[in-house]
Amino acid sequence: MALVNPHGKEKKLKPLLLEGDKLKEEKERARTLTDVMMTSRETGDLIMMGIGGFTPIEGFMGYEDWKGVCDEYKMTDGTFWPIPITLSTTKGNADSIRIGEDVALVDEESAEIMATMTVKEKYTIDKVHECMKVFGTDDIEHPGVAKVMAQGEVNLAGPVKVLSEGRFPEEYKGVYMRPEESRKNFEDKGWSTVAAFQTRNPMHRSHEYLTKIAIEICDGVYIHMLLGQLKAGDIPADIRQTSIDTLIENYYVKDTITVGGYPLDMRYAGPREALLHALFRQNFGCSHLIVGRDHAGVGDYYGPFDAQKIFDEIPEDALETKPLKIDWTFYCYKCDGMASMKTCPHSKEDRLILSGTKLRKMLSEGEDVSDKFSRPEVLKILSEYYQGLSEKVEIKMHKYAEGA
Ligand SMILES: [Zn+2]
Repeated sequence: MALVNPHGKEKKLKPLLLEGDKLKEEKERARTLTDVMMTSRETGDLIMMGIGGFTPIEGFMGYEDWKGVCDEYKMTDGTFWPIPITLSTTKGNADSIRIGEDVALVDEESAEIMATMTVKEKYTIDKVHECMKVFGTDDIEHPGVAKVMAQGEVNLAGPVKVLSEGRFPEEYKGVYMRPEESRKNFEDKGWSTVAAFQTRNPMHRSHEYLTKIAIEICDGVYIHMLLGQLKAGDIPADIRQTSIDTLIENYYVKDTITVGGYPLDMRYAGPREALLHALFRQNFGCSHLIVGRDHAGVGDYYGPFDAQKIFDEIPEDALETKPLKIDWTFYCYKCDGMASMKTCPHSKEDRLILSGTKLRKMLSEGEDVSDKFSRPEVLKILSEYYQGLSEKVEIKMHKYAEGA
């Protein structure tokens, strides 16, 4: 058995990163071009195109693709795609750029030239329409909606040549992996069915349980860490990584699990983002995506299992990567073990459930957290992190805090 095929009609990874002399020449040329600044979200999307994570797209989407993706989950050539991948700029900038002109795409945080793009199209969108379709809301309090509403008025579209992966290869050495690398890693282990576990948090026992259910039915699990931007107050990627590595070292059978990281920001688009998560996991070689409760959700915008149900609403052949739907998991004192809503008949009071916010508060105040909730080795790392912060983290009990 082989790994799943990359997404798209050609079933072939399409990384857009240049290499060798071509890279050198294009970098020189890029310096002479007009700059277009990219937000962190846009830079993350661009790097995904660079490494082939967003195969088969070849650049930022034009109007027809934008519309097709919003309204019908597909691009004009029929390829399934759940979230528009677009680049915006101000009207003033857009007016100064000619159709057919090559521009340099610059990351606004690092000021690094990340790519060149031939501008094929300039267009305006109905942002509210995009938000209603993608996020199911146009509430500006939703962090994904806020980013769309803050975009420039004009979208620029066209094919890109990617010149850099930015800070990721250096900052996350050994974790940051391109799809061709994760595929090779799985093949070297002899895996053909691999379940991806999406994470933007340290892993507690409920997460360990989810991944071990997956290990029982797949050859292995790929812990796939988001390395891009999160909400303020979330745990930094290096602390997350250390705690995950420690958990694996102490509680998993060797070679049943691999850790990797990818460069995207969270959009918090719930069900639509779950589809995007499955799509790019297919490119990374994963046959399954673990979809638990409120996957990629935030606040109360989505029903707890909307991200599972949406997989039943897309065409059967839309994606090769399938969801591994698992109910809410926790430790239950009466069951005397890990369980889920599907397997535990007991009541709320018998279960150990801590919200992320409550846990952060306990850890930063040096309170003991039950080892039924999280492994002691993990708790030690997190507790040291919180207590080492020079300024105590402001723990706001705001409504986003409960998002898994
Ligand atoms: Zn129980």
